Amino acid sequence: MWSRGEKNKPEKVEPPVTPCPDCDGQRVRANVSSEMDLRRGGRYVSDIAGSVCLSCGRLFLYAVDIEEVRRRFAPPA
Ligand SMILES: [Zn+2]
Repeated sequence: MWSRGEKNKPEKVEPPVTPCPDCDGQRVRANVSSEMDLRRGGRYVSDIAGSVCLSCGRLFLYAVDIEEVRRRFAPPA
């Protein structure tokens, strides 16, 4: 049915390093412990990336593979 093109590679989510929305401080990317994961209804996604504000310490966490998150967590249609 579908023509077989090159494999569709979803873009990986990159945590933003734009100024912190709370305090306008500088944000840098940071690694997230592999012990941390997202869970919903018995399913989980463990590929998480983060950034942290160097001024207020707020953490921003992102699922790296958003397509996988949608596949696993989206409610049934
Ligand atoms: Zn901040």
